[in-house]
Amino acid sequence: MAGERVLVVEDNEANTALFTALLEARGYCVRCIDDGEELDRVVAEFRPRLILMDVQLPGVDGLELTRRLKADPATAGIPVLAVTAYAMKGDRDRVLDAGCDAYMSKPIDTRALPRVLADLLAQSKVGD
Ligand code: MN
Repeated sequence: MAGERVLVVEDNEANTALFTALLEARGYCVRCIDDGEELDRVVAEFRPRLILMDVQLPGVDGLELTRRLKADPATAGIPVLAVTAYAMKGDRDRVLDAGCDAYMSKPIDTRALPRVLADLLAQSKVGD
């Protein structure tokens, strides 16, 4: 669906540019932040239907940010797609234990990403 709001939390500029290009090409409305400091404010204001969350962030990491989002009834219904820089044994469990709804490792499979996003958006509890 065109215009669906996706928030990207990612500290690497090249990845941010890649995600933005991929998402905008699909008609999504994209907003990016590079750490968790503004997360609460941006989520409240932008009301993302989905969050694409880098796990390795400066300061509070993406797993802890996800735990906080999922602990708050106001934001628990936003699907979180975690993105990790390396796929290690046990990563998947850590990511899902933190409450992330799905997980992809970098480098991102750009052909698979649109389908993953569409599946997650179908589960989003955030309305238009
Ligand atoms: Mn990072």
